[in-house]
Amino acid sequence: MKQTPIFLLITGLIAGSLWLYGTYFGTPRPPHQRPTGATSPGNRRVEKTDAEWRTSLTRSQYVVMRNRDTEWPNSSPLTHEHRPGNYVCVGCHNRLFSSQTKFESGTGWPSFSAAIVPNAVYTEPDGNRTEVRCSVCDAHLGHVFHDGPDPTGLRYCMNGVALAFAPEKIP
Ligand SMILES: [Zn+2]
Repeated sequence: MKQTPIFLLITGLIAGSLWLYGTYFGTPRPPHQRPTGATSPGNRRVEKTDAEWRTSLTRSQYVVMRNRDTEWPNSSPLTHEHRPGNYVCVGCHNRLFSSQTKFESGTGWPSFSAAIVPNAVYTEPDGNRTEVRCSVCDAHLGHVFHDGPDPTGLRYCMNGVALAFAPEKIP
C-alpha cells in the first residue's frame, strides 16, 4: 500500500493551499453600503460592528440578517401568525409590517403586500431579485416580488427569524 502516503500528501497539499489562499489572498466581502438617499422613520439608525451583531443576535438570526442567508421554508412560527399586531425587526425593533397587509402566500415564508410605512425598509438589486433591508439597522430581511395581491401587487417574502411579532393590545 504505497499509494496511501502519496494520497495523504496530495490531500495535505490541497488543504494547505486552500488555507493559504483563504488566509492571504481571498478578499473578504466588502462591508454593505446603505444606498444614498435611504431614509428611516424618525431618521433612527442602529449601527453595530460585525462582532457586536454576532453577540446580540442568535446564530440563525445572524446568518440571515447579517449574512443574507435564507431560513428554511415553514421554519418560522410567524408564517401562519394571524393575530392583529405589528412585525418589528429583531435587530433594532423598527416597525416593519402590519398584520393588515399579511397574507397566506403558500411559500412557507411570512408574506406581506406592503411595508408599514414606505421608509421602514429599502430595497437593493440582488441578481434577478430585489433584496429588502431594514432601514434602521440595514439587516437583510428577505426579497420583494411582483406577484402579490391587490392593491400593491407586491409580495414581501420575509425571513420570520428576522421578525418579532408584537400583538395588538386588546383594550
Ligand atoms: Zn432593523
